[in-house]
Amino acid sequence: MKYVIALGSNLGDRQSILTHAIDSIKLIAEVIAVSSFYDTNPVGGPDQPNYLNGVVIVNSEKLPEELLKLLQEIENSAGRTREIKWGARTLDLDLISAGEIHIDTEFLTLPHPRAHERAFVLQPWIEIEPGGAIVGRGQITDLLAALGSQE
Ligand code: AMP
Repeated sequence: MKYVIALGSNLGDRQSILTHAIDSIKLIAEVIAVSSFYDTNPVGGPDQPNYLNGVVIVNSEKLPEELLKLLQEIENSAGRTREIKWGARTLDLDLISAGEIHIDTEFLTLPHPRAHERAFVLQPWIEIEPGGAIVGRGQITDLLAALGSQE
């Protein structure tokens, strides 16, 4: 199964936090593609520093829930602070999509419910998979173009 994972960091040495996170992901899945990192303005939430964002595509035989649990362990070992909802965090790892799979449980929603409206996910994803799509939402190039035309 091919999974798309989004990474973000806006505390500490963001570049090395993301690089280290990708090294950790390589230990739990076969990493197929890694985007560049993008400096982005925070979306919503309290006043907080800019994020560094990236996307990786992996291959894994694990179930989506198993993969998310492992990603959460990587977040925790990066010393993630979670006191403030939507607030600054050392490392945020989101499961964005798993092919055609739809999941809607308390633990996991796939595709990620907000990915289609987040340029900081779509842009790095397009860089490594221009033909990518979010099931039920459309081609990621169209989704990003639609965001741009709203501004
Ligand atoms: P956040 O603090 O924004 O990283 O949200 C983490 C919470 O969202 C955890 O409780 C996850 O179980 C839940 N969650 C639901 N769907 C997803 C997803 N697609 N990727 C990552 N976390 C998810």
